[in-house]
Amino acid sequence: MAGLSAAVKAEMQKRAQEVKDRQAAGTFTKNFSLTGKNAIVEPGGEVIVRFGPRWTIALLVNGKLAMNPEYKSGEEPIFVGAWEHWWDTADGKTTHEWCPKTINREAECPVCIAASILMKSAEESERKYGKRIAAKEVFIFNAVVGVPRKLADGKADLRTISVPGTVYTQVSDIMTGGETESFARGNVGDHAEGYDLKFTRPRKDGNDRWAVTCAPNPSPLYDAKQAQAFAGWPGMLVNLEEMLTKETKTGLELFKAYYGRDPEGDEVTPGLASGAPAPEVEPEAEAQQEAAPEPILDEFMPKPAGIQTPRSTPPVPTPPKATPPARSASRTGGRR
Ligand SMILES: [Zn+2]
Repeated sequence: MAGLSAAVKAEMQKRAQEVKDRQAAGTFTKNFSLTGKNAIVEPGGEVIVRFGPRWTIALLVNGKLAMNPEYKSGEEPIFVGAWEHWWDTADGKTTHEWCPKTINREAECPVCIAASILMKSAEESERKYGKRIAAKEVFIFNAVVGVPRKLADGKADLRTISVPGTVYTQVSDIMTGGETESFARGNVGDHAEGYDLKFTRPRKDGNDRWAVTCAPNPSPLYDAKQAQAFAGWPGMLVNLEEMLTKETKTGLELFKAYYGRDPEGDEVTPGLASGAPAPEVEPEAEAQQEAAPEPILDEFMPKPAGIQTPRSTPPVPTPPKATPPARSASRTGGRR
């Protein structure tokens, strides 16, 4: 047996543990689901969703959350774009993974490959399953739900929420005014003077789509009666870009998750091994995520005594950072 240096061995074990950690069930960031068995709204029903501001609003300074002096509401997007895959394992478990192309557009994705092969099948059931596992575009925000806000164990329940393109385009129109700028509501995720949104879920068998409407008046992220529960809320905002970097598997890891085995022979193209680049974590961002939500006076909210906060400027619509997975039929590799 050829040996391994202690450094190589340690590095390999460290990487293996990271992969295992990522593959372990329930490592995804807690989120609000719009569909599925944990959906926050029934088919045909309505739910109030309030997006949070961008996670850069607060910094951890000497162990305490403080307003980020550089933060300007609406200057940077409050969401990230991503591609996700859903499939069922042999034992019937619904599985979710981010498509590696979310992080690196050049990455090979074994599930995209499998989907494109299945969608060309002569069997209708296979074409249907191919459609099910194909990459779906989503837009991810930080959010709270309900009026008054739904809490978890008496604390603010701030989570991520992934919305489909049909919801995103309506949110975008609300924020930018669509083709009529005078209708723009600006940064609906502003913590002090943003807007609650009402999502209406389509009925089960109808042809209608999600509908999104905006509250007539701006409001703060939470009502003063819930101030205690919301103490330290900026520390609960998820750094969405960092989340995707951490949670997205490489093509090779995804192959194992999808097929339940290692790739064989020519199943792996060189691109598969180089899925997501090494995460680049800004020290500030990391500190912010680890910040324990400790009770503090809410210096993030405007002063009550008639002090005017400057109006937030409408954000310039930014295309999501995610890149669409190629749906071309000319891919090589993958299982035939
Ligand atoms: Zn994919």
